Amino acid sequence: MNGMASQLIVIGGGAAGFFAAITCAEKAPHQHVIILEKTATLLAKVRISGGGRCNVTNACFDPAVLVQHYPRGGAALRGPFTRFQPRDTLEWFARHGVPLKTEADGRVFPTTDRSSTIVECLIKAAQQADVEIRTSVTIDSIERADRSGLVVRSRTGEPLSADRVLLATGSNRHGYDWAAALGHTLEPPVPSLFTFAIDDPRLQGLAGISVPNAQVQIDGTRLQQRGPVLITHWGLSGPAILKLSAWGARVLHDRQYQTDVRLNWLPDLNDDQLRQRLLMIKTEQARQWIAATSPLGLPLRLWQRLIGAAGIAEELRWTELSKRHIATLIEQLRHGVYRLHSKGEFKEEFVTCGGVNLDEVNFKTMESRRCPGLYFAGEILDIDGVTGGFNFQAAWTTGWLAGQAMAS
Ligand SMILES: Cc1cc2nc3c(=O)[nH]c(=O)nc-3n(C[C@H](O)[C@H](O)[C@H](O)COP(=O)(O)OP(=O)(O)OC[C@H]3O[C@@H](n4cnc5c(N)ncnc54)[C@H](O)[C@@H]3O)c2cc1C
Repeated sequence: MNGMASQLIVIGGGAAGFFAAITCAEKAPHQHVIILEKTATLLAKVRISGGGRCNVTNACFDPAVLVQHYPRGGAALRGPFTRFQPRDTLEWFARHGVPLKTEADGRVFPTTDRSSTIVECLIKAAQQADVEIRTSVTIDSIERADRSGLVVRSRTGEPLSADRVLLATGSNRHGYDWAAALGHTLEPPVPSLFTFAIDDPRLQGLAGISVPNAQVQIDGTRLQQRGPVLITHWGLSGPAILKLSAWGARVLHDRQYQTDVRLNWLPDLNDDQLRQRLLMIKTEQARQWIAATSPLGLPLRLWQRLIGAAGIAEELRWTELSKRHIATLIEQLRHGVYRLHSKGEFKEEFVTCGGVNLDEVNFKTMESRRCPGLYFAGEILDIDGVTGGFNFQAAWTTGWLAGQAMAS
């Protein structure tokens, strides 16, 4: 190992580390860029991402709108997204031989629908740019050098001196420890992007049913989301739930994932409008069984469950619906309280909220304001997005900025 030569070290062979190393090496071919990866596998998360398809980014091209998809880090990413945004990601991968496609909901995938396409592209690009990749490296410490730069000490081999070091270790504990040892404040890491485990008779046996536009709120907070809600075997999932898990990541963690959530199955109506609708149906369908058809667009089995929960007997006809019934039905349809008993899994994507405090990083260069020569990119930062490709986009953007700055 060359202990004295000028070199740039990237710690972490994940999405952000690779993107930074390639950007830097392509821009400054004379620089010696080394990736040090702890495990034997490169880009492991890219490989398993998006259910094996890798949701590379999202076709959201307006930086002002794009930042709204980040519960943490949106404001800091505003400037960076004017320099490297999803359009640049599409262009970058196309230029490196990987065409991407956009699905109806805006999510972007490789046309092959295989994450291995992205992994192979990044590894090939790194090799072509002469990035040196070392795997299975156990780093013991990162310290400031006597005069300038940093020294990386690993369990095997000589210490490595570097003018610039990028920490791109994702949510790994050692990465956080090194950042702290070099003067950084850490926002406590907690999980984001999960489903809600709820054991409630109103949902039992309804797995697979989805409601395209429901509203869900964390009780006692203003945190609420609207959108598709999916009933699963263990509780609730779907875009509205996942978004709420991201925006509410801290509150839900503080409540140990045990809290009430309020479900409004009909958010387009207010209570009065709903009452009027129910009274109208009562007149129009007076002789019909209430449980026979779902009159408000909800899936029939959910409707039946909710009228049951409202204390309305199955054999009741609309004409027999009392004022009190209407009141309890409105409660069930628009103000149902469900008990979250634990955090559920979302296998397609998850991410850590928390990490290096953003005020301590210069978002023009991704260089630390506390330790000259130290850079950050990716999930190690206190940045996380909702599901849909936004997390990788943050990794590409911060990696690209760091790579540009380290090269100059
Ligand atoms: C199952 C799953 C699916 C996902 N799917 C998507 C998706 O489709 N779209 C999306 O936008 N986001 C997705 N994400 C989130 C996305 O994977 C992350 O946001 C992204 O990988 C962060 O990139 P990163 O480079 O910062 O961290 P990582 O990808 O985690 O890379 C960090 C790297 O550093 C290495 N490392 C850690 N500690 C050390 C150490 N001490 N020394 C040396 N090396 C170290 C790790 O081994 C790893 O290779 C998914 C996440 C998961 C878990």
